[in-house]
Amino acid sequence: MDPISKLSELFAEFPGIGERQAKRFAYYLLRKPSGFRKELALQLAELGDRIAQCVDCKRFFEKTTTDLCETCRNMNTDKSVLMIIEKDTDYDVVRKSRSYNGAYFVLGGMIPILEKQPSYVRTGELLERIKKDTESGVLKEIILAFSLNTQGDHTDSELRRILEPTVVGKDIRMTSLGRGLSTGTELEYSDSKTLEYALKNRQ
Ligand SMILES: [Zn+2]
Repeated sequence: MDPISKLSELFAEFPGIGERQAKRFAYYLLRKPSGFRKELALQLAELGDRIAQCVDCKRFFEKTTTDLCETCRNMNTDKSVLMIIEKDTDYDVVRKSRSYNGAYFVLGGMIPILEKQPSYVRTGELLERIKKDTESGVLKEIILAFSLNTQGDHTDSELRRILEPTVVGKDIRMTSLGRGLSTGTELEYSDSKTLEYALKNRQ
């Protein structure tokens, strides 16, 4: 296969990118100076070499000597609250709002309504994490923080069903974020004020 087709195939695997757009990316790169392509190739290689996944929250972070990210390592992080979010960019948005100081878990995706659950949705790992936190007695609240759309609602109710047996009888609240967000809002695009309000009004 020629390099243009091969690269287009790779781009077509990106979320939301169709075949035609993938081809456009490949041609765009051909028009850029070779220095740009070299820089891109270098950064792609570095992604694998310098970024690690946190064993506790599954977030990607710049590699250090430990296998925990700075939030999971930080003594000031309130481990009694665990916020479950869909993706890494949601973490950035919540951090930026400065209205939350608890722990996180990145689910990796939303639970689909019809198809089989894709392997990158980490419900098994989440269950393990919650079991660990319940056994140590540290966990007091689980916040489900998903976008206010059909898939977010579905993920919210599915997780409640999945986690219920583990938290039942223990003194753990399960709350949902988003009552302050308007319908259709994606967590990723919420501003800090809205997020702060949604957090205060979680139920
Ligand atoms: Zn972490």
